[in-house]
Amino acid sequence: MLKNLFIETIGCQMNMRDSEIMLQLLKESGYLPCPDLAAADAVIVNTCSIRGKAEQKAYSFIGSLRRLKEENPDLIIAVAGCVAQQEGEKMRLRMPHVDIILGPQSIYQLPDLFQQVAHERQGIIATSQSQDFAIPSFLPDLKNGLAHKRFVTIMQGCNNYCTYCIVPYTRGREVSRRQEDILAEVQHLVAGGVREITLLGQNVNSYGNDQPRSERTSFPELLRQVAAVPGLVRLRFTTSNPKDLSPALMACFQDLANLCHHFHLPVQSGANGVLAKMNRKYTVEEYMAQVLGLRQACPDISLTTDIIVGFPGETVADFQATMDLMEKVRYDSAFSFKYSSRPPAKSCGFEETVSDQEKVRRLAILQNRQQEITEERHQEWVGKTMEVMIEGESKMANGQWSGRSSQNLIVNFHSPAIYSPGDLETVTITESCLNSLRAELKLEETLKND
Ligand code: SF4
Repeated sequence: MLKNLFIETIGCQMNMRDSEIMLQLLKESGYLPCPDLAAADAVIVNTCSIRGKAEQKAYSFIGSLRRLKEENPDLIIAVAGCVAQQEGEKMRLRMPHVDIILGPQSIYQLPDLFQQVAHERQGIIATSQSQDFAIPSFLPDLKNGLAHKRFVTIMQGCNNYCTYCIVPYTRGREVSRRQEDILAEVQHLVAGGVREITLLGQNVNSYGNDQPRSERTSFPELLRQVAAVPGLVRLRFTTSNPKDLSPALMACFQDLANLCHHFHLPVQSGANGVLAKMNRKYTVEEYMAQVLGLRQACPDISLTTDIIVGFPGETVADFQATMDLMEKVRYDSAFSFKYSSRPPAKSCGFEETVSDQEKVRRLAILQNRQQEITEERHQEWVGKTMEVMIEGESKMANGQWSGRSSQNLIVNFHSPAIYSPGDLETVTITESCLNSLRAELKLEETLKND
């Protein structure tokens, strides 16, 4: 008999992809996705611990499952992701109603873990990390997930140990997936109708560095191979540490027609002293040279970033340096956060020198200015023509369609045509809004349709 599986995913795109993998593996064992928590036979909570808020959200959701477990003792509750990896035994003591606690390396064992818990009725902790871990070869179910765009994991873990970050502890050392497995997955997806692929990893630029030199494929080489898969319309990737951004990668933006014009380049701070304390291994000057190189290679590239304010030791002058850098780069958008210590990251041992009130103040200044820059950047598109990939029809009004540009900007427009997600349309931007652009069909298209 088929069973109902409810999955709650918190956090990044890596977690979203891991949830898709877990769902597919359990489908093969007789589970079906179920949107109704009360009707579930099994629940997976895929957690994130990158910020305190995400961890609290995970714990609060897991805690709320206690009542369901009391009502239905056969319910299987599994907690995956970074909080599970980090907390392990501590989570078992705090949340005894959880049956399985598993780390990111163990998701491929989930069907076995489910069977084990169903038979033995004993809690399992599967958080060991192996130095020899290899990402298994895995072809995604085309029916599980969006039809027109998908994520493909190319590596797991990170070796960089930025002092504020817990990823190297929760996801382990860098493990690059075999190039032939990545290509097979992309070919499988594209043959099944997928039009856009995003290659995923914590630091995609260092793809291949863990492989023997003689067999190594660099990230730009991989990108070229994936871009050449016949039928692939758009290619994206995320995330990159600026220190590893090579001229070979910049050249891909000149050479590959289907590589989208967007680069997420986390800067974190505009002050060299703070960057050194964060162990980011680049200076502001080196970062600006990367920005210049990318803009030379691809003049209409959209640049986005991550910024932390109030890192231990950040002075008012350091914060001003971050503001100055924002003015120079003029990001299309930025994810910005107040610093919070996340054990076992090294910065937990640094003395906190910025009060919470001051962090709030700095964050508000930064976010307000970035919002203005985003609007100014949006305004620069008015009157220009661009190709958008259709995401879907607006639920609010008939004939209103929403798509994304190569720069990953949301573009809304009216059209009498009927599209499917993944179709391309050429539009002219007429208006910039806070978080999106408004457009109309390119003139010839409008005439053709009249
Ligand atoms: S490069 Fe990114 S994932 Fe790796 S330690 Fe630094 S912030 Fe964390």
